[in-house]
Amino acid sequence: MYEKLNKCPLCKEGGFSNAMIIEDHAISKESFTICKCENCNLLFTNPRPDEKNIHHYYESPNYISHSNKTNGWIDLIYKSVRRYTIRQKLLWLKKFHPKKGRLLDYGCGTGNLLKEAKKDKWITIGIEPNQKAREIAIQKELDVRTNLVEIQKEKKFDVISLFHVLEHVHNLDNTIKQLLDRLKKRGILFIAVPNHESHDRKHFENYWASYDIPRHLYHFENSSMEYLANKYKLKIKDRIPMLFDSYYISLLSDKYQKDNSNPISSFFKGLKFNKKAKSDGNYSSIVYVLKKQ
Ligand SMILES: [Zn+2]
Repeated sequence: MYEKLNKCPLCKEGGFSNAMIIEDHAISKESFTICKCENCNLLFTNPRPDEKNIHHYYESPNYISHSNKTNGWIDLIYKSVRRYTIRQKLLWLKKFHPKKGRLLDYGCGTGNLLKEAKKDKWITIGIEPNQKAREIAIQKELDVRTNLVEIQKEKKFDVISLFHVLEHVHNLDNTIKQLLDRLKKRGILFIAVPNHESHDRKHFENYWASYDIPRHLYHFENSSMEYLANKYKLKIKDRIPMLFDSYYISLLSDKYQKDNSNPISSFFKGLKFNKKAKSDGNYSSIVYVLKKQ
């Protein structure tokens, strides 16, 4: 059920130590240890549920990223913001790949980004291992597969996106290698991940909702992302802040911490964290725009 890693999932070195213990506030209420690699700085959940069993930790009516049902005001806000952020993502795609072309959204969920990208004349394919989410995406007349193996190797992609996906992937090294194998030379890879150095993490500490443990297997920060870029010979073209994550994560973290929520106070916290991040770039979540050489 659980697997214990004896090597860092990113650099494969054996030197790491226990850094903190964090509770799964969202679903299981179990606690998990996060280790820190001495070589590449990666923070990773260890031990962790293995690939076959992790689905137990997603099974909750409260876990909304895969469903389209609306429950409560947090979901309502989440969904209206999502519509806005999808339009933003399309602008980023266009900015870094103006000619459009073939887009692979890895971990596409219910296909919200793909649907809009398709309307915007991208040729779109999605990968989504979660059956329920995949079926919803397919109902939207999208081409969504279970895994990369089902996609022709010869037809490479201009852009591959992983929006809040990489931190969920069990085989980190293999997944990145396989994705880069499908990306054209000079193609663009978007990787959006929560930022462990963010001001919201420093404020909420163990209640920070982006730990989302054990669903998040890695807890990235700038130095480990730079290591990742170097390791796979990717050039960091840009780091784009995901401004809305600060509000949403503040709302959820406040809810975990106090067991009730005051949306106004959470909103002002989110605003404060974004303001602070203006000077040092430590936003709640960051999209790394990476270019294959
Ligand atoms: Zn490492």
